[in-house]
Parts: sequence; C-alpha cells; structure tokens
Amino acid sequence: MNSHSEDQNDRAAWLKGHSAQCSGVPEGRERPWRLVLLGAPGVGKGTQADLLTRRVGACHLSTGDVFREAKTRNGREQTLAMAAALNFMRRGALVPDAIVWELIRERTSCLHCRSGFVLDGFPRTLAQSQALNVLLESEGLFLDAVINYEVPVAEIVARLSGRRTCESCRAIFHLTSHPPLAEGICDHCGGALTQREDDRPESVAVRLETYQRSTAPLIDFYRRRGLLINVVATGSPQSVFERTIAALEVRGKLAGGASESECAVPVAP
Ligand code: AMP
Repeated sequence: MNSHSEDQNDRAAWLKGHSAQCSGVPEGRERPWRLVLLGAPGVGKGTQADLLTRRVGACHLSTGDVFREAKTRNGREQTLAMAAALNFMRRGALVPDAIVWELIRERTSCLHCRSGFVLDGFPRTLAQSQALNVLLESEGLFLDAVINYEVPVAEIVARLSGRRTCESCRAIFHLTSHPPLAEGICDHCGGALTQREDDRPESVAVRLETYQRSTAPLIDFYRRRGLLINVVATGSPQSVFERTIAALEVRGKLAGGASESECAVPVAP
C-alpha cells in the first residue's frame, strides 16, 4: 500500500516543492475529485488515499509525506523552518501552523491539479481549516467531501505500534495484519522496513492526545458545512475502501456526469 507505480503521478511537485515537475499525471476528469481525509493517526488515511488515488486518479497530497521526504535530505537543502518542523514531528507533536501554511502556500498549484486531490493529514487544526477555506475560495476551488474515518482507540494503538514502512518506496506493512514475505524487507522494492520514529509508544500517546485536542474539532467544522461523511474504518483496507466508495456514491460524488451544482458544496468562509 501507499507505493506509487510508474503509471501513477509521482507527486514530485508536492513532495519536493514548486520547482519540481510531476510526471505520470493522469488525464483530468471532467469533474476532478477534491477530498479531505480526517481521522486519528493510524486509522489508515494514507492507505485509503492511495486506494482512492488509484481509483479516480486524484493526487495524494499528504503533509506528513512532505516532512518525511525532507527528512531524507538529512540537512542538505533543508531550511531552518523544515529542520524545526522535523523536531516537532519526531516527538509526535504538531508542526506549528505557520510552517505548515508556508508549505501549503508554496504548493497551491497542486490544488489545481487536473486530476483533483485527496488531502491527507491537512488540515489538522481549526486555524488550518479556516486558512484552507479562504485559499480555496480565492482560487475558485471547491471541496467535494470530507471523509472522517472512525476506529476505536485501542485498535489505533495496536495498528501504530505494529506498523512498518519501507524506507525507499514508503509501502506500509504491519507485523501481524500485513507482514512482509521476508522479515524487515519490502515486498515491492526490497527496501528496508523500519518503524517511524513517531510510531514509538511515547510519540503515539502524544499524537493521540494532540488529535483529540486539535484535530477532532474539525469534524464539527465540516459537518456544519455539509461536507462530512463518516466511515467506520475497522476491518480490511479493502472493506474500508468499499465503504468509502459506497458513501461517496450515496452523495453522488462518483457520478462522472454530475454537474458542479449537484455534487460540489461551496466552501463556506
Ligand atoms: P502524518 O503522516 O499525517 O501522520 O504526519 C506525521 C507528522 O507530521 C505529524 O505527527 C505532525 O508532526 C506532522 N504533520 C503532518 N501534517 C501536519 C499538519 N497539517 N499540521 C501539523 N503537523 C503536521
């Protein structure tokens, strides 16, 4: 999961910043999807974003992936702001809004991607969601839906502590529910599987507490704007994906021919 094949958008402009050019961007749909994924750390947003991307071509815009990409540069080309951001991330704390916002503003062109987008991990605070609303409105863009994934806390802790990520292609495995064929080695590219620093127990506790305090209020924010879709995210990734697609179908989001007024909800200030 979460690996990108050659015929998929390589997300270069998102991961590396505005000077980079994406390759493999799918042909735009008449109505590109513009979605936001919400949910506590470990509910599987990254996996679902990847499945959604494969199904509808929309680009997977993960702020966490931008930070992890910067981390691989090991000080080379890293700005002071990015180095500070990585320190917050290591502890499981949120990166300050100002740094995140600068990153988003630099990547505004990604919001116009002809294949649409699935935002994953952003927005994460009320200030970020308000700023996103203003930006989308000024760019003449609309969100189609905000999908909120729900999983009991005990299951989240088990998921995060067993998660292993490929250092090369970022494919995600789990020690018990999705183990690699050979221990510690990625099935897809042979890269080394490691535990994310922020998946260690002390960081997980901070992340869950931070989620409750800073991100959970966004559920109500988007519910009031008529954009929220709740999806129970227990069970296999495929079953969660099918629930997601079914929920989107109910709202008419999958109807290729649906007009803007039928399926897009304008972003309220
Ligand atoms: P994720 O992969 O989305 O779980 O993000 C990993 C880490 O990156 C988070 O625990 C935060 O430290 C940082 N991060 C990612 N996105 C944001 C955001 N929108 N606001 C603040 N911090 C973020």
